[in-house]
Amino acid sequence: MMDRVAIITGGSRGIGRATALAAARRGWRVCIAYATNAAAAGAVVAEIEAGKGAAIAVRCDVAHEADIVALFRAADGFGPLGALVNNAGVVGVTARLDDMSAERIQHIMTVNVVGSLLCAREAVRRMSTRHGGQGGVIVNLSSAAARLGSANTYVDYAASKGAIDTFTRGLADEVAAEGIRVTGVRPGLIDTEIHGSGGDPERAHRLSSSVPMRRVGTADEVASAIVWLMSDEASYVTGSILDVSGGR
Ligand code: NAP
Repeated sequence: MMDRVAIITGGSRGIGRATALAAARRGWRVCIAYATNAAAAGAVVAEIEAGKGAAIAVRCDVAHEADIVALFRAADGFGPLGALVNNAGVVGVTARLDDMSAERIQHIMTVNVVGSLLCAREAVRRMSTRHGGQGGVIVNLSSAAARLGSANTYVDYAASKGAIDTFTRGLADEVAAEGIRVTGVRPGLIDTEIHGSGGDPERAHRLSSSVPMRRVGTADEVASAIVWLMSDEASYVTGSILDVSGGR
C-alpha cells in the first residue's frame, strides 16, 4: 500500500483527522481535503510528516463539483488512488422540521449526499478496473442517526445519512466485480466539534447515559474501524455498514 493514496474529505478535524493519522501510520499516502480550516489541515500534514509519513492538504468544499474535480486532480499528482473516505459532513442547528428552511435542508443534502456521490464518482473513474484502474476501497461515513431518525434534533441530517446507507449498498454491488469495495461506518455519539456546530457542544456527553456502553466514543475509535475497512484485512467485506456506536 505504500505507494497508494487515500483521500479523506474533512480530514482536517474530528473523525477525518483521526483517520488521516491512522491511515498514515498504516502506510497510506494521505490527501487531506478541508473546507475552510487551512491551519488545522496543515497541522495534520505536519504531524504525519513528523512521523515519516506522506501527506498533502487540498482545499475542497464538497458542496462544489469543481472543487471535487480539482481535489482528485491534485491527488492524481500525489500517486495512484487506492481509497476514498467520504467523511466530510455537516449538521444544522437543533430544530424541528417545521422550523427548517429549504436552504438549510438543501445545504445538508448537498454536502452530505451529493458531495459524497460526486467524490465516489471521481474515485470509481480512477480505481475501477473498467477504467484501467487497480481497484480500491470507498468508506462512507453514515451515522446511527440513519437508524434512529433524530426526531426534534435534525431529521434532515438523519435522512441524509439514510441516503448514504442506501448509496453504500447500491454502489458496492455496482462496482464489486471491478475491484472496488464500498463500505460504510455508522458512528454513534462521538466526541468531536460537530456537536458545537449544531449549537449544542455538550450534546454527546449529555446523551451518553442513553448509550448501552454508558460513554461517548472517540474519533480514534471510529478511525480504527475505517482503516480496517480500508485494509486488505477486510478484503471480503463490501456493502457492509459497521456500527461504531457503543451499542446505541
Ligand atoms: P467535525 O469535527 O465537525 O469535522 C468536520 C470536518 O468536515 C472538518 O474537517 C471540516 O473541514 C469538514 N467539512 C465540513 N463541511 C465541509 C464541506 N462542505 N466540504 C468539505 N469538508 C467539509 O465532524 P466529525 O464529527 O468528525 O464528523 C465526521 C463525519 O462523521 C461526518 O460525516 C459526520 O456526519 C459523521 N458522524 C459524526 C458523529 C459524531 O458524533 N461526531 C456521529 C455520526 C456520524 P474544516 O476543518 O475546513 O471546517
